[in-house]
Amino acid sequence: MGILARQRIHLFLCVRMTNIRYLTGFSGSDAALLVSPDGVTFVTDGRYAEQSRREVRGAEIVISDGKWPEVARRIRAVTRRSAPGRAARIGFESRHLSVEIHRFLTRRAGDGWVALRDPVETLRMRKEESEIRAMEGAAIAASGALLEVLSAGVRGRTEKEVAADLERGMKMLGAEEPSFRAIVASGPRSALPHAEPTGSAIGRNEPVVFDFGARRRGYCSDETVSVLPARPSSPLRRMFDAVRRAQERGIRAIRPGVPCRDVDARVRESLDRSGYLKYFVHSTGHGVGMDIHERPSLSQRSRDRLAEGMVVTVEPGVYLPGVGGIRIEDMIRVTARGGDRVTYLPKQAPLIL
Ligand code: ZN
Ligand code: ZN
Repeated sequence: MGILARQRIHLFLCVRMTNIRYLTGFSGSDAALLVSPDGVTFVTDGRYAEQSRREVRGAEIVISDGKWPEVARRIRAVTRRSAPGRAARIGFESRHLSVEIHRFLTRRAGDGWVALRDPVETLRMRKEESEIRAMEGAAIAASGALLEVLSAGVRGRTEKEVAADLERGMKMLGAEEPSFRAIVASGPRSALPHAEPTGSAIGRNEPVVFDFGARRRGYCSDETVSVLPARPSSPLRRMFDAVRRAQERGIRAIRPGVPCRDVDARVRESLDRSGYLKYFVHSTGHGVGMDIHERPSLSQRSRDRLAEGMVVTVEPGVYLPGVGGIRIEDMIRVTARGGDRVTYLPKQAPLIL
């Protein structure tokens, strides 16, 4: 409800499903939420009648075959009461409401629409204790699955087989699903930051990058481990140490009030000192929550500042074409004094397999 006063609107229409889940607890995939001075109305169809009764908190549940006509009817009713004789200001998520639905609602319910960029995403940046606990649970399922996969042995198996085992392992350890398709990239393919697992076998003397995460109670984990062969080449060893130092530098910079781009700058300075900056081709990190990538961004262009309760990744990487790549990623929770790891697999020394 606070959103109405903050955004100076009479009504707020929420359509992005992760935002609806955040506000109500509903985990299905089709609904709309209307926040008005009268209360919160959750509109869905018959497929979700039972599920919404079980999950939705703090809203009146309306089951309707025509979701959008129903939303339009309710907007009109509220408008008549709260802004009689003039157009009501109806806030909507400009990045998520389709042009088609926007036109339909304008025709049926008036045209006082106010585009809001990230109204709920802004609230979601700072996590409550229960949200952080869900992410810790997700991280435990994901890391546990990686340890199982590594102890069973990955050399000689294909990237695809290993990725499939990793994702299955997460579910067996209590995850609902992977939070994104796991990356298992070996040899020269590890130099591709977003490599898709292939049908190639993982060689004896190759580095392997595992970037993986699980979803638990709706919340994501995200972690990257770089595994080196028993006798790594000296460039790989040097790259590992440079990335590890850069990550530690970034994590040390985390505390409330610090501009996110400063964390990115510390990581870049560290990689510059090791001579690898030109091989760092992405930003330092991102917020994690119900979405795998959410605000704030830890990048050169970010305008956000860290605040207590945020959970962000710090994930520098160095990618040498033809040689291979190293990335190290942890999720860090911003505390009153600094940053604590949410992911827990050790990163100080490379895992040697
Ligand atoms: Zn990741
Ligand atoms: Zn990440």
